[in-house]
Amino acid sequence: MILSIVAPCYNEEGALPAFVERMCTAARAAAGPAFELILVNDGSRDATWPCIRALAMSRQEIVGVNLSRNHGHQLAVSAGLNLAKGARVLIIDADLQDPPEVLSAMMDKMDEGFDVVYGRRRNREGESVFKLTTAKLFYRLLHSISEVEIPQDVGDFRLMSKRIVDRLNAMPERDRFLRGMVAWLGGRQTEVLYDRDPRVAGETAYTVSKMVRLAVNGLTGFSTAPLKIAVVLAFAGMGLAALIVVYALIGFMTGTAQPGWTSLALITVFFGVGQLGCIAIIGAYLSRIYTQVKGRPLFMIDEVVGGSNSAGAGEA
Ligand code: UDP
Ligand code: MG
Repeated sequence: MILSIVAPCYNEEGALPAFVERMCTAARAAAGPAFELILVNDGSRDATWPCIRALAMSRQEIVGVNLSRNHGHQLAVSAGLNLAKGARVLIIDADLQDPPEVLSAMMDKMDEGFDVVYGRRRNREGESVFKLTTAKLFYRLLHSISEVEIPQDVGDFRLMSKRIVDRLNAMPERDRFLRGMVAWLGGRQTEVLYDRDPRVAGETAYTVSKMVRLAVNGLTGFSTAPLKIAVVLAFAGMGLAALIVVYALIGFMTGTAQPGWTSLALITVFFGVGQLGCIAIIGAYLSRIYTQVKGRPLFMIDEVVGGSNSAGAGEA
C-alpha cells in the first residue's frame, strides 16, 4: 500500500460523493491504484454512515469506520491514522475545503526526502471575518508561547511518512492537538501553499465552543507558560509589597495613619504575597508533573551512522 488517505466526516452526506470522486481521481493520478481512502464517521446525525457504507461496498479502495459517537475532529483523525496501512498518509477534510489535487505536489516533496509536507493556506475563501481573525490571533499567540515551532496558518491537511504516523500513534496523550504533535516530532518538514476553498455542502461543525476547546488544547498542550503567570505575579507582588510596607510604616511612625490601618495593611500584604508565592511553587511542580504525565518520548532519533548501526537505524 503506497498511500492511505484519512478523512474525518461529521454530517458530510452532501459533500461525500463529490469528495470521494475527486479524491480517488487525485490519488490514482499521484499514487496509482495502490491506495486506500479511510472515511471515519464521527457520530454524524445525518445519513453520512449509510453513505460511507454504500461507498465502501461499491469501491474496494474505500474503508469505512464508524465511531460510536461524536468524538471530535482530532480523535476522528487519530482513529483513521491508527488504521492506515500506507507508506504515506494524507489527512484531509471531507468537505473539499482542502483541494485533493494538492496531493500530487505533496507527493513530489515527499520524493525529495521529506517526512511531513503540510499545506499552508495562502487564502481562505468563504469563511467569516470572525473565524479568520480569531484563527490568526490564535496562531500568533500559539507561536509566541509554544515550546516547539508550530507552523502558522496550517491545519491538519498534510502528507506524512509511515514513520511519523507510527510515532504519532505511539504518543499516549489524550488531548490530541495533532498539528502540534507532528511539529513536536520534528524530522524533515516542509510546506506546500494552497488556496482553501469554501465548503461544497453542509456547514462547519466547528462551533465557537469547539474552536475554543481546540485553542486551549493547543496552548496548554504545547506550553506551560500559563502556569508560570503566578511566578511573574509573585515577583511583581513582592516589589509592590515592599513599597506598601515602607509606606505603611512611615504612616505609623509619623502618626498619620488611622489606628489599625498599619496592621491591616501589613497582614494583607503578607498573606497576598505568601499565597502568590505558594501558587508559583505549586505551578512549578505541576508543570513538571504535567510534562511527565504526557508520557512523550524523551527524544526522536532521525538517523544513526557509523558503528554497526548504519543500515536501517532510525527508530528511537
Ligand atoms: N469533523 C469531525 N468531527 C467533528 C467536527 C468536524 O470529524 O466533530 C470533520 C468534518 O466533517 C470535516 C473536518 O472535520 O471533514 C473539518 O470540520 P469543519 O469543516 O466543520 O471545520 P472547518 O473547516 O470549518 O474548520
Ligand atoms: Mg471545513
